[in-house]
Amino acid sequence: MLRLPRFRYLRPKTAREAARMAADLGPRAMFVSGGTDLFPKLKRRQFEVEALIGLDFLPREIRNGSSECVVGAGVTLAAAAGDAHLNNMFAGYAEAAGLVSSPPLRNVGTVGGNLCVDTRCNYYDMTYEWRKAAGFCMKKDGDICLVAPSSSRCWAVSSSDTAPMAIALDSVVTLAGPDGERELPVSALYRDDGIDYMAKQPSEVVTALTLSADPHVKTAYVKLRRRGSIDFPIAGAAVAIQLDGDEVVQCRIVLSAVASHPLEASAAEAFLKGKRVSEDTIRETAEIAAKPAKPLDNADLSHFWRKRMVRVVVEQSLARATTSTGGSTVKLSGRNRE
Ligand SMILES: Cc1cc2nc3c(=O)[nH]c(=O)nc-3n(C[C@H](O)[C@H](O)[C@H](O)COP(=O)(O)OP(=O)(O)OC[C@H]3O[C@@H](n4cnc5c(N)ncnc54)[C@H](O)[C@@H]3O)c2cc1C
Ligand code: SF4
Repeated sequence: MLRLPRFRYLRPKTAREAARMAADLGPRAMFVSGGTDLFPKLKRRQFEVEALIGLDFLPREIRNGSSECVVGAGVTLAAAAGDAHLNNMFAGYAEAAGLVSSPPLRNVGTVGGNLCVDTRCNYYDMTYEWRKAAGFCMKKDGDICLVAPSSSRCWAVSSSDTAPMAIALDSVVTLAGPDGERELPVSALYRDDGIDYMAKQPSEVVTALTLSADPHVKTAYVKLRRRGSIDFPIAGAAVAIQLDGDEVVQCRIVLSAVASHPLEASAAEAFLKGKRVSEDTIRETAEIAAKPAKPLDNADLSHFWRKRMVRVVVEQSLARATTSTGGSTVKLSGRNRE
């Protein structure tokens, strides 16, 4: 049985106090919200810290205004997935939250933790002993990339389900630092780097996610994973689309689990703008959206197949958003399986 290492648990009362503790302790401490990702990683010695800074003071309410909805970073994914207003106004976001992991982890995992969740790789998400036997990689304890040995960077995969949808919805996070608060579009929260994947300061706490309400925008999130009951995405597509009749006024398409950051399919968005929605335009848009996705051989199932499936998740997500039937998990039918 893997055991947690010893650590000090700090209980600040406010986000500012938590940020000051983090700034003082630097890499010797990490924040913990639900702990659903952090604790298994501590057990596998993927992180080594002296202290955890508890964020259990974070707001746990969802405040609905006429033009925006503010989701406290401490709201659980289960609460977000089940919230009537989110389901009504931001169906794709509620769907994405409801497709994270499994019910027990959604009951504890938080909206803020999901936005900050670590990137993943088959060579990294392993026990200490496995990694030692295979040879450590640069994300922890080593100095080369085992997936792309000639590369000077880490290609671990951004695997948050809600981040792509938050970007597609043009959402904003509130960050509390040691010296005050600021707001940042979620689209600016990530870096294309498997190790240093967050663009915020390490001492900044995510305290809220603000979604702007537009009744004309329809959303959907479609996720591909091996086991619908628990697994991380191996491809996913978040779509937010505004239609005038059957003409596309604007559209955002953001891909999950195909790069070290949520990947916006900008060329596909530009192609679809002004077009009439039809099976043909959806198929062409999905082809274009899949082009920038370059999955590597460091996640579940074959990366060639995952690359082919990006087109499928985009197609399904666009079809669902334009017919407003919400998001879902792609079924691994005989046709879709490797
Ligand atoms: C078996 C399994 C399956 C999973 N499947 C999925 C999945 O399908 N999709 C998915 O997206 N995730 C999945 N996860 C990961 C995880 O459960 C979720 O991402 C969850 O939302 C993380 O939230 P948390 O509150 O538990 O974060 P924690 O584990 O507490 O923290 C995660 C990271 O975020 C940082 N952090 C947490 N809160 C904040 C904050 N407010 N401000 C700044 N930094 C913060 C922590 O320091 C840590 O680095 C899975 C995990 C497991 C173990
Ligand atoms: S992509 Fe390379 S460096 Fe990054 S975690 Fe995987 S093996 Fe390690």
